[in-house]
Amino acid sequence: LSRSPSLVARLLRHAHEVPDRPALRFQGVATSWAEHRDAVLRTARDLRDRGVVPGDRVALLLTNRPEFLTVTHAAAAIGAITVPVNFRLTAEEVSFILGHSTPRVLVTEPQTRSLAEGAAAHRTDPTGPASTESPASGPTLLDCTDEWLAPVIAAGTALAVDDVHVPHDDDDYAILYTSGTTGRPKGAVLSHLNIYNGGVQNGLRWGADDSSTVMLAPPLFHVGSFMSSHAALAAGAASLVIPSAGFDAATTLTTMRDEDVTSAFMVPQQWHLLCDEIERRGDSGLSLTHASWGGAPATEKLLRRMASCMPRAQITAVFGQTETCGTAVSLSFEDSLTKIGSVGRPTAETWIRIVDPSMNDVGVDEVGEIVYRGTCVMNRYWDDPAATAEAFAGGWFHSGDLVRRDEDGFLYVVDRIKDMIISGGENIYCAEIENALSWHPDVAEVTVVGRPDDVWGEVPVACIVPAEGAATPTLEDLRGFLNDRLARYKHPKDLVLLDQLPRTGMGKIHKTALRGSV
Ligand code: ATP
Repeated sequence: LSRSPSLVARLLRHAHEVPDRPALRFQGVATSWAEHRDAVLRTARDLRDRGVVPGDRVALLLTNRPEFLTVTHAAAAIGAITVPVNFRLTAEEVSFILGHSTPRVLVTEPQTRSLAEGAAAHRTDPTGPASTESPASGPTLLDCTDEWLAPVIAAGTALAVDDVHVPHDDDDYAILYTSGTTGRPKGAVLSHLNIYNGGVQNGLRWGADDSSTVMLAPPLFHVGSFMSSHAALAAGAASLVIPSAGFDAATTLTTMRDEDVTSAFMVPQQWHLLCDEIERRGDSGLSLTHASWGGAPATEKLLRRMASCMPRAQITAVFGQTETCGTAVSLSFEDSLTKIGSVGRPTAETWIRIVDPSMNDVGVDEVGEIVYRGTCVMNRYWDDPAATAEAFAGGWFHSGDLVRRDEDGFLYVVDRIKDMIISGGENIYCAEIENALSWHPDVAEVTVVGRPDDVWGEVPVACIVPAEGAATPTLEDLRGFLNDRLARYKHPKDLVLLDQLPRTGMGKIHKTALRGSV
């Protein structure tokens, strides 16, 4: 076990070396590493007794709660593959994922039970790529509270340590479905090596050890929190699980202070709300030493606010996607002072190229697609050879992200290929317009999408949430504001005022939804 990429081995070691230190913290209750080991081995044994064998899928339809991690680690201990499912999806969407990943069991909680049952009712109409081994009866539903898991954890028989599955590098650890802002979800298959390396490297970046507390605020089914939890597991740090009933900045800030959180990854929207709250209270008193942001673009304005709101924290950018275990590129705190706006350089386990559509490398400061190789890159998409072949065309994983690299090798995100607008033959990067407009004093939030246009092909439309108490911005205002900042062909041709921007479960702006409606 000690010679394999096994995070369960790490868990057993923490339980041996620091048995009384906290592994999990949730709503004021701490679970020690020794207790967590026992819970994991008992759950693993129960799953095995239920017929779960190596390679089987164990799906989780759970909100943020410690049992999510207990079952994930237990599945790894018997060589099963965890499939976290977004509990904010509709029954039809959940049904697609279940029909596609064909789990043997589906772990639910009272809050998600009816969604699971609704999804089961939809199973007669699988619309995704044909699956070869879908059990006709569907997965067995197991409740992670009193009905199943609580009694197992309290009094079950533990799996013997000698029976813990010894993983090989390429064995599948988890299938994370992309959230589908660009189409139907695809299941990124992350291997034990992917997760092991990603966990260890993230933990190192945070300087985490068994005295650290890693906060898990975004949903655990998303790669950001999923990997943060594995960073904590690798380092022996406590995972502080924040319930996921919508992000509440006031409660989160209080929890961060009360629980001495040292490291946290959140998406820009969450940091934005947290900064609002810190400013409202005047002083945060945070012991946070590492604040990572990523998952979506952040404006320079937000980064400057984060630095002033959290003066003690090292603020680091992470860039990547589900298929690259979240972090493929990272900007260290030291570099963030001189390379504002950059997402940094490839991590130790990542190789990149920046290429044109014919796979030729582009030059310094030229825009191209970033493609990846390395131990952070997923093995394949689950049961989708066509999507896998397309994503790995030319032997590199194609991100769909446009970036440029400066002469020091630092990367700047330009846009997603799918979000780029081609207007009158010119490429317009929405992110550039968004960044410029975010500085307008009457703008609280902004996003830019393309609208089909008979003359230009496509034109940029600014969707704006006005700042509270500010004058309502007009298109002329905005265009005037942009005069010194952006070439005229990049100025929005229309303005849509909104009370709020449509967002995915992760807090990302749902551009696809907007495109259809503006
Ligand atoms: P889908 O890929 O189906 O659209 P998604 O956007 O939710 O769903 P994720 O894997 O969660 O998929 O997101 C990855 C994308 O998020 C990246 O490809 C990139 O466009 C964007 N992203 C991630 N980190 C950053 C960052 N630091 N700055 C800018 N964009 C980022």
